[in-house]
Amino acid sequence: MQILDGKLVAQTVKNDLKIKVAALKEKGKKKPHLAAVLVGNNGASETYVASKVKTCEEIGYQSTLIRFNTDVEEDVLLRKIQELNADDNIDGILVQLPLPKQIAEEKVINAIAAEKDVDGFHPTNIGKMIQGQPAYIPATPYGILLLLKHYKIETKGKHAVVIGRSNIVGRPISILLSQNTPTGNCTVTLCHSHTSNLKAICLQADIIVAALGKAEFLTADMVKDGAIVIDVGITRVEDKSKKKGYAIKGDVHFETVAPKCSYITPVPGGVGAMTIAALMQNTYLAATQKQ
Ligand code: NAD
Repeated sequence: MQILDGKLVAQTVKNDLKIKVAALKEKGKKKPHLAAVLVGNNGASETYVASKVKTCEEIGYQSTLIRFNTDVEEDVLLRKIQELNADDNIDGILVQLPLPKQIAEEKVINAIAAEKDVDGFHPTNIGKMIQGQPAYIPATPYGILLLLKHYKIETKGKHAVVIGRSNIVGRPISILLSQNTPTGNCTVTLCHSHTSNLKAICLQADIIVAALGKAEFLTADMVKDGAIVIDVGITRVEDKSKKKGYAIKGDVHFETVAPKCSYITPVPGGVGAMTIAALMQNTYLAATQKQ
């Protein structure tokens, strides 16, 4: 069994970007600039955004954090996005999800200019991605592909089972794994909360992507020997022995599943780390395409 070390691969991606940013500077070009919009004070969202801003600093990007209170009106948020769209100094815009109930997420995502949509959630980018055209690929699926590529994992002809059909993880990774690309050519089964016989389907999988958000859901009896398991889940589970009062769990019961796998991602230090690296990659692309 080999661990797919997201932390390590993310560092490689970030080091590469650092060099590229230094080269931009040498040519007298401006550094990439990411604007992050955070609404409210959800603990997990705060952590993700802080980590994105910190990574910008580490690589040499400029970042701007824009905060709104939980009760912000939809119009106010949409106006800010228009402002960021029109600002030539901003290359990439991300709005941390989830948003409070009074705001329609779809409206906000659609309001971001497609060429600044470094999270890859805008319908234009999703449409292009589906057709295999150059597009910003959603950061988490993109991070998974970068991980598979780094470890030279052969995906061609494999049966990939994706658990979860969200627009940001499950559905896009199911499409990407099925495409005719070096990290694709899988036969894909996309499972969700209404799937019958999930265990039997998982037992047929050469690759399992678990993205359902239920701590330690995938157990050893659902995984065949030698499978490749990608754990996307991040759930905070109460743990009084921890300083913060909670532990972070993936969707996979790591201790029992790992010994059966050929490759597996840990949580933390797997897909999460790669997601940020992929976002940084998209931001670099946004900045340089414009230049
Ligand atoms: P979501 O809640 O939008 O979607 C969950 C999906 O799982 C749904 O499509 C649902 O049908 C399916 N599902 C739920 N219960 C199921 C069951 N019992 N059997 C089969 N399918 C089931 O979630 P999401 O936004 O895609 O996130 C999923 C998990 O990934 C969460 O834990 C989230 O925190 C995590 N996540 C991690 C990263 C990262 O960078 N690692 C990024 C995004 C999301």
